[in-house]
Amino acid sequence: MRSIMSVVAARLAKPLRRLLRACKSAWDSSARASAALRAASGQGERAVRDSQKWREYRFENLILHPMLDQAKETLTQDECLLLVKRSRELFGFANVPIQFSNHSRRWARAWISHIVLPPWAMTPLTVMHEVAHTMTQPYKHGPYFVRAFLILVARYYGVSLRRLKALAREHRVKVAGSFPPGRGFSLEMCGAKPAPRVRFPKSRRVRA
Ligand SMILES: [Zn+2]
Repeated sequence: MRSIMSVVAARLAKPLRRLLRACKSAWDSSARASAALRAASGQGERAVRDSQKWREYRFENLILHPMLDQAKETLTQDECLLLVKRSRELFGFANVPIQFSNHSRRWARAWISHIVLPPWAMTPLTVMHEVAHTMTQPYKHGPYFVRAFLILVARYYGVSLRRLKALAREHRVKVAGSFPPGRGFSLEMCGAKPAPRVRFPKSRRVRA
């Protein structure tokens, strides 16, 4: 004769299995949905990570700012707009607008379509940092972003790109050797050919 426990277990086994199957299927479909969303937005598993963000910030603050002593200089709104336009032209991208925010906003932000700048961020380095983000989404502060940013910095300040890349690598910031194909970067910027000449808002040559 079966014990009461085995009878209860036998009766519950089927509904429990059904419940477990339902949970697993819900879990699988939600995982599939997130994967589809990531694929649709062009963000693979690796692209979402932002592993060198703090190293990149530290490199800018400790190395670039002191080296380019005009980097903290504030630009006017017109100069910011022109810098964004010229920087994107350099890479073969159409212009994007800037939303100049009020004093309370803490961070400068960039999307593919536009940039948000609080007053403290109206400096050449920060504007170029945000422009580089608009062109290298979804790679965050990864090697493609750093490459675009350093090309802009080299152009704007008239310093050696090779030297900037070496400095970045010395500070454990990875710099891509080329850009990903098919993302709008002009061929000149991807290969060894010299980039087109670009006139920036002001010429600021410094020694680096
Ligand atoms: Zn950033």
